[in-house]
Amino acid sequence: MDALLTEEGRRLRAEARAFARERIRPVADELDQTATYPQDALEACGERRWTGLTLPEPHGLGKGYVDLAVLTEELAAASMPVASALNLHLGAAQLLATHGTDAQRERWLPGLARFETVAALGLSEDEAGSDKSGMTTTAERDADRWVLDGHKRWVTNYHQADLVLTYARTGDRADWPGGVTAFLVDADAFTLDREWDTLGARPVPACRVVLDGVQVGDDRRVGPIGEGYRGRSAVANGINVPARGVGIARAALADTAAHTSEREQGGAPLADRQGLRWELAAMARRLDRARLATLSAADQADRGRDAARAMAVAKLEATEAAVDNANDAVQLHGGIGYTRERSVERYLRDAKLLTIAGGPNAGHRDALAEQVLAEPVRPVDDGRNP
Ligand SMILES: Cc1cc2nc3c(=O)[nH]c(=O)nc-3n(C[C@H](O)[C@H](O)[C@H](O)COP(=O)(O)OP(=O)(O)OC[C@H]3O[C@@H](n4cnc5c(N)ncnc54)[C@H](O)[C@@H]3O)c2cc1C
Repeated sequence: MDALLTEEGRRLRAEARAFARERIRPVADELDQTATYPQDALEACGERRWTGLTLPEPHGLGKGYVDLAVLTEELAAASMPVASALNLHLGAAQLLATHGTDAQRERWLPGLARFETVAALGLSEDEAGSDKSGMTTTAERDADRWVLDGHKRWVTNYHQADLVLTYARTGDRADWPGGVTAFLVDADAFTLDREWDTLGARPVPACRVVLDGVQVGDDRRVGPIGEGYRGRSAVANGINVPARGVGIARAALADTAAHTSEREQGGAPLADRQGLRWELAAMARRLDRARLATLSAADQADRGRDAARAMAVAKLEATEAAVDNANDAVQLHGGIGYTRERSVERYLRDAKLLTIAGGPNAGHRDALAEQVLAEPVRPVDDGRNP
C-alpha cells in the first residue's frame, strides 16, 4: 500500500494521524452525542490548508486524490462527520477551481482553502436523489442576471456555509445530462425549510433550503451554461466517500482487537477463542480490501485515467466494509458495545450513511455491471483498470 504514497504522502499521513488522535478522537463521542458542529477541528484543518488539499497552488496545497484518501481515512477513523464536513466543502471548492473563471478563483479560493470561506453542495432535491435528472430547481436568464427558484435537499454544512454550489435546470429535461448549470449562491440567499434529525453524522446536519426568486449575476455562474452536471465528472473528490468508509472500518477493527484482548470471560481473553479470532481476521481482510480499492481508484484518477470502474468498486468495497466492521464491532463488544460508553455504536450509525450518500450503492452496482458487460476484461497494459 505504501507503494502508492510518496514521501510527502507518508508525512501527510503521519501528521493527520497525530492530529486526529490529539485533536479529534478525544472529543468525537461528545460531538456526536451533543450534535455539535466540529468548528475547532475544521478551523485547525483550515490552518493546515487541508480544507484546500486538492485545490491548486498557491491557494491550495495542490495535492492529488491519493493524498485526499489518506487524509480522509485518518480524519474519519477519529470522526466520520469531520471528514464529511471537510470533503463536502472541498468538493464544491474543487469544482469552482476546475470550472471557474480566473476572477472567481482569485476571489474565492484563498478563503476556501483555509476554511475562512465555507462551501456547501446543493445538488440533491426532493425528486432528485439517486437520479439527479429529476431536478426541478430552475435558473432563468434575465439580461446579465439569473433568477433561481426551487429548493435543495440535504445540504451539509449549510449553517456554516458562505456559498452553496447550486445546480439548476437551464434547459429541458430531455437535454439530460445537459441542461443543468452550476451557480455559486450566497448561503443567506436561501430560506431554511428544515433540518433532519439523523441516525448518524449528527455533528454535521443536513438541511432542506428554498430558493425563491433569488437573483445572482452571471459572474456567479460556474462553467458553461447547460454543462454543470456533466462537469462534475471532471473531479474525483468523490473518492472521499470510500475513504471515509476505510476510516470507520479501521477504527472498528482497532477498538474490537483492543476490547477482545482485554475482556476476559471463562478465565481467558475473548480474543483467545478461535471463532472470535476468525471474525477479527475477516474484519482485517475487509479493511485491507477497502483501502486497496480506494487508493487504487485514487491513483487511477491522479494519473488522469478513466477511474469510473475503480471508483465504483472502491465505493462498494469500502462503504460495505465500514458497515460490516462496525456491526461486528458492536457484536464483539457485547452489551457495552450497545451503549454510548463505547464508540462502536457511533461507528455503526455513521457508517450507514456511506452506503446511501455519494449515490446509493445500488446505483454504483448498476454502473459497475454496465461497464463489465460492455468490456468484461480490459487489456492488461492499456493503463486503465483490470
Ligand atoms: C446526511 C446526508 C447528507 C447529505 N449531504 C448532501 C449534500 O451535502 N449535498 C447534496 O446534494 N446531497 C446530499 N445528500 C443526498 C444524498 O446524496 C442522497 O440521499 C442520495 O443520493 C440518495 O438519494 P435519496 O436519499 O433520494 O434516495 P432514493 O433515490 O430515494 O433511493 C432510495 C433507495 O432506493 C434504492 N435505489 C436507488 N436507486 C436504485 C437503483 N437504480 N437500483 C436499485 N435500487 C436503487 C437504494 O437502496 C436507495 O438507498 C446527503 C444525504 C444525507 C442522508
